[in-house]
Amino acid sequence: MDDNYYLVLAGGVGAAKFIEGLANVIDPALLKIIINTGDDIELYGLQICPDIDIITYTLAGIVDKERGWGFQDESFNCLKSLKQFYDFKWFNLGDKDLATHIYRTDLFKKGFSKAEITMKIAEKMGITSHLIPMTNESVQTIITTDSEEMHFEEFFIRYNCRPRILDIKFQGIDKAKPVKGVLDYIKHAERVLICPSNPVVSIGTILTIPGIRKTLKNIKQKVIAISPIIEGATVKGPADKMMKHLGLEVSCVGVAHYYRDIISHFIIDNKDCALKPIIKEMDINTYCFDTLMVSKEKKKEIAKFTINLEI
Ligand code: GDP
Repeated sequence: MDDNYYLVLAGGVGAAKFIEGLANVIDPALLKIIINTGDDIELYGLQICPDIDIITYTLAGIVDKERGWGFQDESFNCLKSLKQFYDFKWFNLGDKDLATHIYRTDLFKKGFSKAEITMKIAEKMGITSHLIPMTNESVQTIITTDSEEMHFEEFFIRYNCRPRILDIKFQGIDKAKPVKGVLDYIKHAERVLICPSNPVVSIGTILTIPGIRKTLKNIKQKVIAISPIIEGATVKGPADKMMKHLGLEVSCVGVAHYYRDIISHFIIDNKDCALKPIIKEMDINTYCFDTLMVSKEKKKEIAKFTINLEI
């Protein structure tokens, strides 16, 4: 197997920014990206894979960067009409975006696996990176709140992450397997890069797929993670609430604790550099950098720093 590719573990919006940077500093064909599918959901009879779509649209250069998801210059006419028929109003689907979900659902009905469909969509959008769902099986992140159990997307979008979290379950995980070849891809990668994504319900979901965490442990000297938590807060999303639920400190130190068995290198934000000695005590090489990816240049800088780290 060719040894000079990079294996990336990715969620959605945080991951997409970093991957955009990577794709601008190295040949995107050198990226094999394992993407969280715990947020996948069926709506209006269509199969929707939010994180896969965010990464796909980002690499295709068509993502709406303001929102972080969906197409640029999108319209929502079909959704308006759908609302006549469905008593369901919280998930936004643009007209161009719908074409992806229609095509994906059609291919599912024809018997293709999620991995095959993901690659077909990526190839048709001109993407040369290898995009891999974390599993072909259905795994759904279910949040138990004070009042009810709900799909992660409902917690995230409909309720804006407000309800108290009593439990987080990965429904279907008992039947899930990694996609064929993935454990070997991890073993033979030049480096493994863990994106600044939600550690619990993006990266954590990938890590529960049998074999993945164990394989990472065995090659941890080449695993580099970037903290999604800066100055004790998330840049966006509910990672803070979820870390609290797991009893983790909401800081880059808490993220390091969560990853300590699978990483040897950790990039934290310059603003957290005072915490570097605490993380180093966990036997993790720790580096400070400006990790807030607010522009194309910032995305490229952190990508370059990660690729060029001497490990
Ligand atoms: P989601 O599936 O769309 O929620 O996206 P991810 O799981 O990939 O990312 C969510 C995490 O990314 C959050 O914890 C954010 O704090 C983190 N994040 C987003 N943008 C940035 C950034 O510019 N820098 C860093 N360090 N983290 C970020």
